[in-house]
Amino acid sequence: MRGVSTLTLFLSLKGEETCFLTCVSVPLGAPLLSPSRERRFGSFFSIMPVMGRKDVKRIIRLLEQEYGLPRWRVRGEPVAVLVQTILSQNTSDKNSEPAFRRLMSSFLGWEEVAGASEEEIARCIQSGGLGKVKTRYIKQALGEVKRRCGSFNLEFLKKMTVEDARKWLMELPGVGIKTASCVLLFGLKMPALPVDTHVFRVATRLGLIKQGTSMERAHRELEAVVAPEDVYRFHVLLITHGRRACRARLPHCTRCVLREVCEFYGRG
Ligand code: SF4
Repeated sequence: MRGVSTLTLFLSLKGEETCFLTCVSVPLGAPLLSPSRERRFGSFFSIMPVMGRKDVKRIIRLLEQEYGLPRWRVRGEPVAVLVQTILSQNTSDKNSEPAFRRLMSSFLGWEEVAGASEEEIARCIQSGGLGKVKTRYIKQALGEVKRRCGSFNLEFLKKMTVEDARKWLMELPGVGIKTASCVLLFGLKMPALPVDTHVFRVATRLGLIKQGTSMERAHRELEAVVAPEDVYRFHVLLITHGRRACRARLPHCTRCVLREVCEFYGRG
């Protein structure tokens, strides 16, 4: 096959009492090693993917033992999750949640919000430090939903594949891959994996994604290794872990339940 080579590898991994006899088919010239393994074993050979679904299941199991089992529940109608997620972009829940509540209590329904002036919407959300851009996105996104669907009911997305439903949402103003994935996961119980700053940081340190991976690519790479039935708990548990232990500065590695599977910790 053009551009594809089959390699037979025999690796004796120093310090791991393990020998691998592995046959892999790889595109010629494709990067084979994660950065840390490249440093440990040299740049010639690698094993891809570094972690698979079994490893992810183990990570989830360990985190569940630590933080409990998150229950996958719908947080609200999809259009409400859409507006709430736009409000939460680049700000804390402490800012976005009161703004969302104020918006809900100031209008009688989505029809009214969509028909309100930008000034009226901005008055509801501004005190949380949320500016004009979000006002415009909310108004435009709602207008576009109404124009395309004739209503604000997004339940029809459930009949699509995750990829198609996400694509549909990402065509709305102000909706990127994370916002679209939140609508699917929290509003429609579909297995789309939102990658926020905590998920991104923890997944990178664990070695599930490479340093420097784009956000868009991180969504797709993580979805490829997390089983659909695990997507919700993976998302919630990684956020919890990122807040409580694997913090941006000074992660609590010595007390971390993921030490044994963590690439960052393994590097020392
Ligand atoms: S061992 Fe450290 S870097 Fe790895 S997941 Fe735990 S806290 Fe994060």
